[in-house]
Order: sequence, then C-alpha cells, then structure tokens
Amino acid sequence: MQEIHIKVEEKLYQNRYMVDEGRPHISVKPHTQPTEALASLVKICPAGCYSRTETGQVEIAPDGCLECGTCRIVCAATGDIEWNYPRGGYGILFKFG
Ligand code: SF4
Repeated sequence: MQEIHIKVEEKLYQNRYMVDEGRPHISVKPHTQPTEALASLVKICPAGCYSRTETGQVEIAPDGCLECGTCRIVCAATGDIEWNYPRGGYGILFKFG
C-alpha cells in the first residue's frame, strides 16, 4: 500500500474561519516587554497567530485560531492574554477527512 504524506499546512488550509469583526476572542494584555511565556507563543502557536512588533511586543491576529488552547495554558500563570471561545457561529470550522 502506498503511503500518502500530507503537510500540516495543507490540512490546515482545508479549514474555514468565520471572523467575528471587532470582537477578537483572544487578546494580549498591554506590555512593554513580553514575559518568557508570552514571547514563546510566537513559536508555539500552530496557526501562527502571534507575532512580534518592531518594538518587541507580542501581538495576536486570532483569525485562523484553531482553539487548541495552547496559548491559554502557557500563559495561565502569567495572565498575559485574555482567552475566550468565539461566539457561536464564529471561529474555526474544521473540515475532517
Ligand atoms: S488557541 Fe491555539 S491556535 Fe489559537 S491562538 Fe492559541 S495557540 Fe494559537
């Protein structure tokens, strides 16, 4: 039997995302220097939602968030982010198969 290798990026591309304009379900609290936990999200988030600004702060664009909860757990002790599930009908629409 032939093995089929599909890249994670290709699988993620199958999903759809309903943007809740003006109501992001995750936000980063204001900071001047990110904590180690917050800074790590730039590399940890599987959807690449976190990035660094030119001045070193961490920002988030939650469109495409997989709702995996990783950032919520990583920053649970530091309180760097505000995390909620999107409202009903918004957020990630997973396509299985
Ligand atoms: S919940 Fe997961 S996918 Fe969404 S922003 Fe956090 S780490 Fe990224």
